[in-house]
Amino acid sequence: MNTDIVVVGCGVAGLSAALSATRKGAKVVLLERSDKKNRGGNSRYTEAYFRMPNETEVSEDFEERLALNSMGTIDPELLKLTHQPYDEWPPILKSYGFIDPELIFGFSEAVPDTIAWLKELGIKFLEASPFLTQTTKRIAPSGGGEALVEGIAEAAEKAGVEFHYETTARSLILNDKGDVTGVRAWSHSKGCVDIHAKAVVLASGGFQGNQEMMFKYVGPNSHLTRPVAPGGLYDKGEGIEMAINIGAAPAGQFDAFHAETIDPRSGKPEATVFIFGYGILVNKNGERFMDEGANLSDVIYEDVGREILKQPGGVAYLIHDSKIKDIPNYEKGLHTDRSPIQGKSIEDLAVKLEIDPVKLGKTIREYNAAVQEGSFDPFRLDGKCTQGIDIPKSNWALNIDETNLFATPIICATCFTFGGLKVTPKAEVLNLDGYVIPGLYAGGEVVGFYYGSYVGSTSVLKGLVFGRKAGENSVDYCSKIETG
Ligand SMILES: Cc1cc2nc3c(=O)[nH]c(=O)nc-3n(C[C@H](O)[C@H](O)[C@H](O)COP(=O)(O)OP(=O)(O)OC[C@H]3O[C@@H](n4cnc5c(N)ncnc54)[C@H](O)[C@@H]3O)c2cc1C
Repeated sequence: MNTDIVVVGCGVAGLSAALSATRKGAKVVLLERSDKKNRGGNSRYTEAYFRMPNETEVSEDFEERLALNSMGTIDPELLKLTHQPYDEWPPILKSYGFIDPELIFGFSEAVPDTIAWLKELGIKFLEASPFLTQTTKRIAPSGGGEALVEGIAEAAEKAGVEFHYETTARSLILNDKGDVTGVRAWSHSKGCVDIHAKAVVLASGGFQGNQEMMFKYVGPNSHLTRPVAPGGLYDKGEGIEMAINIGAAPAGQFDAFHAETIDPRSGKPEATVFIFGYGILVNKNGERFMDEGANLSDVIYEDVGREILKQPGGVAYLIHDSKIKDIPNYEKGLHTDRSPIQGKSIEDLAVKLEIDPVKLGKTIREYNAAVQEGSFDPFRLDGKCTQGIDIPKSNWALNIDETNLFATPIICATCFTFGGLKVTPKAEVLNLDGYVIPGLYAGGEVVGFYYGSYVGSTSVLKGLVFGRKAGENSVDYCSKIETG
């Protein structure tokens, strides 16, 4: 099979690339592992909150937060070199795994135009948030990620993109010079198929659906987590691996993923529990292990998930009493469809949770004794804290009624993995030597972009922005090689 551009993956990144490239005149083939009904990977399941107070601006902290999370400690001498024009950077700096300033600015400045592009496709936006308390405003497309996937896919179908479902890209085809000239794929009906092209866009998501890669990069506890929604099961990391196999530069924190706190009893996608600040978290040993009220929930939920993954069996229980019902709209921070487990006494609850009643009793009573006077305000950091216990609670510390308790189990779920490929601001994939791999582009989770804590509500935007850049710039590349 021959085409101009092959796009791998039918999430927001792949679809944005395919539509943009087709509109610029290229012939595009899109490969997707799933069937048509399940197309869209993670993108299909997200509510798609965007870190934007309105449709034309990113949040005030957008660039700063991304820059602060761009790696560990970066050599200041290297950072100085980023003040030169990008074209003059030494190759070794371009391939360095940090999220460089050019990438961050290139991302944020392209956001408003990307929203306008979606609006032209008929997507509508509203102000929205999944949190009861938050540090920044968000907007979301009406109909969430599914509306994005179906809206862009329909436009791409109309524009002439050729979709091949149940077709999985496995490796890249190179010419003698090492330029990328296509993809080798596999489908259960046709077996191996080679698609020859002038350029390839990798947009096949992260590797949260691949147990071997999760173990290799995230570590031994990775089997205790699971994708937060079924779409993640389709993202098995081939896009990242096939590029690394031909010498692509990695970027992003390979041993980390965006973590969410979910109720493991629920089969509902994204059955999150974000109200841990209003109770205490205990592990299977009946012990507290972190400050549940360290900050607002949208700031700490990822840290909470990661701490839970370190606990025995990777599970914790949020324990509170019926006072939680006095918090207006508290259900907004609770997306599970399962009711909490109720206990008439600490002992009763402990038996139901299969926790030693003596240990649980000691933990709750020590916590209750440490709670300080103060006025409780669930919507801000109220400073109502504990004193005199090893693990403090800094805000919202209320006594737990020993005769009417509730518990919700929580595990750490994988939203998406952080490790991926280093790209230029034009979404070209760089090799380890710091040079562009001719013919290879990437968008979405394949682009390694995050370290430490995820900067919330930026990853769908990143998929859309770098997907569009990959689509448009790959067409320019095709024209260049045609004209010699
Ligand atoms: C429940 C949930 C909630 C989220 N909430 C938010 C949010 O509010 N805001 C935000 O910004 N982000 C959010 N995210 C993250 C966000 O959804 C993703 O970062 C983004 O959608 C990724 O887009 P993508 O196109 O890179 O990957 P995906 O959407 O995962 O698409 C990848 C596609 O590639 C296909 N594929 C994989 N491997 C191959 C292969 N080898 N060959 C062919 N096809 C392949 C997959 O089947 C899939 O269709 C959320 C994620 C989830 C799961």
